Amino acid sequence: SKKQRSQKLAALPLREELRGQEPYGAPQLTVPAMLNVNETTYDVPADVVEAITEQVRRAATELNRYPDREFTALREKLAHYLSRESSLEAPLSAESIWAANGSNEIMQHIFQAFAGPGRSVLSFPPTYSMYPLYARGTYSDYIAGEREEDFTQSPESVAQQIRAHRPNVVILCSPNNPTGTALSLDVVEAAYEAGEDSQAMVIVDEAYGEFRQQGTPSALELLPGRERLIVSRTMSKAFALAGGRLGYLAAAPEVADALRLVRLPYHLSAVTQAAAEAALDHSQALMANVERIKTQRDRIVSELGEMGLDPKPSDANFVFFGGLQDEKTAWQHLLEDGILIRDVGIPRHLRVTAGTEEETTSFLESLRQHLAAES
Ligand code: PMP
Repeated sequence: SKKQRSQKLAALPLREELRGQEPYGAPQLTVPAMLNVNETTYDVPADVVEAITEQVRRAATELNRYPDREFTALREKLAHYLSRESSLEAPLSAESIWAANGSNEIMQHIFQAFAGPGRSVLSFPPTYSMYPLYARGTYSDYIAGEREEDFTQSPESVAQQIRAHRPNVVILCSPNNPTGTALSLDVVEAAYEAGEDSQAMVIVDEAYGEFRQQGTPSALELLPGRERLIVSRTMSKAFALAGGRLGYLAAAPEVADALRLVRLPYHLSAVTQAAAEAALDHSQALMANVERIKTQRDRIVSELGEMGLDPKPSDANFVFFGGLQDEKTAWQHLLEDGILIRDVGIPRHLRVTAGTEEETTSFLESLRQHLAAES
């Protein structure tokens, strides 16, 4: 039974700080509309499935050998993709790129190299809830910073908190999960300058970067001349490749050299490299869905507003909204209609992923019915 297993776990010589903890993870339920973990809900396009299959088939003939430890071809493609995606004046070189099994592993590498025992990490909740867990896993001290009432961040407040805490690593999440809004570059610049004293590495987690509103710049633009700045991205969201597990970053080449010191040898399997390369070869086809998702995202914001709820502006593929009488009953009502969204533990608020037009319609209709029944 569950109880016996947990008693057996308690009998193991587990690290003190892991005792009584639950593993991280949202419910994985199979329902008609799974809108709770910000995946792309469109199927992988047929020609992309073909291309991935073909490239993995070729990789399979050499699976007796270890993969390219330096994932050279993949880094070239990622550098090229990012330079184009953000229209960078100074294109990135492959030496500026590092990759790992999801941006979760990217973050773990950064913490292993730049945080750790006796060092600290600062981020600004409500934000991605894995940040304190990377800190726990690497024995780093975690500092929870503060945001404004409306969940935004000002350059002054961010700089002041960095000067006060003198962290070794700062994480800015832009667009922020779960609140959805991107940071303007002056916040990133202010964080970088304020981190000068404690020589803080400043990470901008742009997991949702491709969904940003027209005119919102990427922090990639700030990389030249800033060797403590890291911009992290993932193929889990815009590339519809969450199952492929490929996260990556752009930074000064010496940052990648630092991460080489902590990565496990051959951490990116040949199968992973093949799948990611094939998806990158089809980035244009995959980005067509990004546009469709952005349309549904904007529709959710406007319709929730019309319903009298309080949706936050979103640069991501999800919308965070408040104004509910009770988030638990709303979440349950949606689930009974076959729609799974995310309760992030903030009273009267929920977060929904922008899916296909049909999924969005069913979400909005179900929520409308719930609100009508409540009043
Ligand atoms: N950063 C943010 C802000 C996220 O929301 C997520 C996934 N939910 C990740 C990183 C990790 O994504 P992955 O490991 O799939 O790249």
